Amino acid sequence: MTNRRVLVESLPTEHLSENNFKIIEDQIPSIRENEVLCRTLLVTIAAGSRAGLQGSATYAGAPQTGVVMNATGVCRIEASKSEEFLEGDLVVCQSGWQDYSSQKATQCQKIVDDVDLKHYLGALGTNGLTAYFGLHRVAQPSSGETLLVSAAAGSVGHLVGQFAKIIGCHTVGIAGSEEKCVQVRKRLGFDKAVSYRSENFRNELKEACSKGVDIYFDNVGGEVLGAALFRMNERGRIVCCGAVSQYDTSQPSGSPRGIPGLLVNKRIRMEGFLVFDFADEYETARKEIKQMIADKKILPENDVFDGLTAAPSAFVDLLAGGNIGTRIIKVDD
Ligand code: NAP
Repeated sequence: MTNRRVLVESLPTEHLSENNFKIIEDQIPSIRENEVLCRTLLVTIAAGSRAGLQGSATYAGAPQTGVVMNATGVCRIEASKSEEFLEGDLVVCQSGWQDYSSQKATQCQKIVDDVDLKHYLGALGTNGLTAYFGLHRVAQPSSGETLLVSAAAGSVGHLVGQFAKIIGCHTVGIAGSEEKCVQVRKRLGFDKAVSYRSENFRNELKEACSKGVDIYFDNVGGEVLGAALFRMNERGRIVCCGAVSQYDTSQPSGSPRGIPGLLVNKRIRMEGFLVFDFADEYETARKEIKQMIADKKILPENDVFDGLTAAPSAFVDLLAGGNIGTRIIKVDD
């Protein structure tokens, strides 16, 4: 048995390409005291990882080559030298894009229920928690307010809109095509959706947000943030979650027009956050999200690709807007 590992071979200088990765076969790692051997079953492909390769995700440190591409995975314990875990247990850990990894037992979170495992990388994973805390804690929405979210068909965005709908917000999504906008409205239940690629984007946005925007949940930055700024109501909140429009390039654009002038005149609060800020409350949030799933109050979308070797192309495709919901690679049954 060998361990297939997807390494970062080179750092992208412009758009990410499959050639930035290399697949090697290695030995299955051995484990020491208080460690476990994890067999990867599912791994995520996340837009934020592109910021990590760009060096703009400061919490991730400097980008490196020759290392396994990092990612969260759902794994089965194959061998254990920890009293906490038995062979066959299912866990969430930082598996990376590889078949097997050795993990410190303290870094593994045991899965103890029979929820669809994919949700542990989506609605119950980092992105679901990001949507939850960014909305509830940073934006603090009230019923009747208008919430606008970009990358609305994406992993974080599709949950932000659905959580906000439960609170009673008027929900408007921005996505990259008419087809995605139809999905956002019809399948995910947003009130309105507009494509930022439409020639009349700014007018359509104005029409969709006829009472202005109270909360803009920004996943993309750049020109879309620029357009949203001009729709903000007084005392509005802009939640800076990420800037995916600026990741897949070596020349990110400058700040949009209106900062700080519009923020001052309209008393707008613009606040960034990292989901890790709320780590102490993850379990409480997961419990609530699980209940929403069980009650069918939300529809978490998982977008599954088959096979570890598909990971590089699935990542390139995600940055081009190919996904709806959370993109996941199924590595093993
Ligand atoms: P995602 O939304 O599932 O995928 C990225 C989407 O971005 C694509 O599907 C594409 O959709 C859109 N996109 C790509 N290029 C774009 C451009 N130039 N302009 C506008 N949209 C573009 O990704 P995700 O994993 O859920 O991440 C969403 C954001 O959350 C990212 O910015 C990520 O860094 C951030 N994040 C933040 C935290 C935190 O703690 N603050 C944690 C997790 C994630 P279209 O077809 O609509 O273009």
